[in-house]
Amino acid sequence: AFDVDGATPARCCPASGTLYNTNTLEAFKTIDKKALLDKAASEIWSVIQSGAALEDSSILNKFILLTFADLKKYHFYYWFCFPALCFLEGVQLEQEPVSLECSFSAKQISSLQTAYDNLCASSGTTAVPHFLLKYTDESVEVAPLKDLNSFFPDLKKITVGVYDPCTLPQHPGWPLRNFLVLLAKKWGSQLDVLEVLCFRDRTLQGSRSIRHSIIFRVKLPDLTASAVCPKSVGWEKNAKGAMGPRSVNLSECMDPKRLAESSVDLNLKLMRWRLVCFLYVIFCEYIIQNAEGYNMSIPMPGHPVNFSELTMAQARQDVEQLEKLISEHDVVFLLMDTRESRWLPTVIAASQRKLIVNAALGFDTFVVMRHGLKKPKESQSEESTTTITPGTAQTYPCVFHTHSHTSLFSNIPGHRLGCYFCNDVVAPGDSTRDRTLDQQCTVSRPGLAMIAGALAVELMVSVLQHLEGGYAVASSSDDRMNEPPTSLGLVPHQIRGFLSRFDNVLPASLAFDKCTACSPIVLDNYEREGFQFLAKVFNSSHSFLEDLTGLTLLHQETQAAEVRLIICITLCVLTVTFRSEPTITDKFMITVRSKKTVLLACAIR
Ligand SMILES: [Zn+2]
Repeated sequence: AFDVDGATPARCCPASGTLYNTNTLEAFKTIDKKALLDKAASEIWSVIQSGAALEDSSILNKFILLTFADLKKYHFYYWFCFPALCFLEGVQLEQEPVSLECSFSAKQISSLQTAYDNLCASSGTTAVPHFLLKYTDESVEVAPLKDLNSFFPDLKKITVGVYDPCTLPQHPGWPLRNFLVLLAKKWGSQLDVLEVLCFRDRTLQGSRSIRHSIIFRVKLPDLTASAVCPKSVGWEKNAKGAMGPRSVNLSECMDPKRLAESSVDLNLKLMRWRLVCFLYVIFCEYIIQNAEGYNMSIPMPGHPVNFSELTMAQARQDVEQLEKLISEHDVVFLLMDTRESRWLPTVIAASQRKLIVNAALGFDTFVVMRHGLKKPKESQSEESTTTITPGTAQTYPCVFHTHSHTSLFSNIPGHRLGCYFCNDVVAPGDSTRDRTLDQQCTVSRPGLAMIAGALAVELMVSVLQHLEGGYAVASSSDDRMNEPPTSLGLVPHQIRGFLSRFDNVLPASLAFDKCTACSPIVLDNYEREGFQFLAKVFNSSHSFLEDLTGLTLLHQETQAAEVRLIICITLCVLTVTFRSEPTITDKFMITVRSKKTVLLACAIR
């Protein structure tokens, strides 16, 4: 449409105009619209006066388009003006409009159509905007506007045609206005009665018709002596019928955010259709909610914060913010790059009974897991009286498995699942100390983070689809052949992926009663002492948590057991190799000696 030399579509009259696009809405509102109109009107008047409009009457059809585009909100304001010169005293109607099929015979109509098409062909346009017309009962003749004097020997009564976009049966369209001014200016003194054919050309379902064209007679005022540009009108009324701009809101189809919303909406609809099941509204809301970002540092065990009052206050503030954020949300994703930075959110979320989805990366391995969701605090008292040890896990009732499992880690209900720290027998500490840069940073295969991130979201969605949510029994790799617990399939505890083998396994593990993050004693201390307790953890070495949870004891017991075993073996070897080479026994003795300190510690206990 901006190409001046562009082709005009079939049976359309070209109209050229000027686009004024303002930079601000303010400029759009305050621009002098009367001046714009006056300028266009005087241009039309000058081509009428000069006679240029007779050669090319399409220049009578002008427009102004005033626009402002709010590209942030995708709101577009526009105001059209179709400048039209006015007759001061109006135009007197001599004969009411009638449709062409009432005033012309079928033969005349078809003759008119052929004559008009020939005129278009000879003038090289797809539609001639204005033309002259002569007709008898037998035939219809048309001619270009500039032939007026030769085409009509007698100017008393002439017929003109105007290509009319209007469809009203009693009213001509807007383009007639400037055409009448042209006729009044050029021949107003000679014309007695002017017959006007509003030529309407329509193609409906492949069949073309001009029978709904209208024809009427007017008496034109005489403008031949007038040199001053007549008054003009043309700014379009808006949809409310008031003088004002129109606007379109294209945010629905252009705003990336709205597009994302609608594609998510569509995806959900398709999923709903596909699964023929009810998806929680909450699912929608998670995606559509706007994201908010916070830049904060998470205090970590083994990373002291007690350098100054300022650092302590900052740590306290960070803890409070994290507590607040977790309390305001339903799911927490842990996607940090160190082990110890996951400790504080794990403790807070476990205490607040919020679902955690955790993703951790290695070089070509990852783990995506949901932390066990503890039972609500009120219902815990009866639970604690029947503290279940790992050995009794398979006795736990499960509605989704009708056949019995013999595996220790089958059918673990959500509230007894472990957390990220449950499988560890050392407390989190400063994992970046004494490490080179490449050891501090997790170097991963490029696709790993995306795979793990996507699985983390899908795991959350599957958990939310389960009627019991975070309390859902963990599905394991063994369940892959069974009836899935939700419409979306399995609800595993962990997904451990091995990119080198392009393989995932779904292990499940129990909460560890000496866990440094989710064990009752840690949660108890946190809930009782709050930041006081946390500060102790941050500022102490990892032995603090290990002492608290009894891990230290566990280490000692395990190592004592190991040493006892080694001593037994040594004694056996010593007996057996009584005469063997001393170097062999030396080796065993060295091993035994290195464990002595542990033995001592054991003895003291
Ligand atoms: Zn744990």
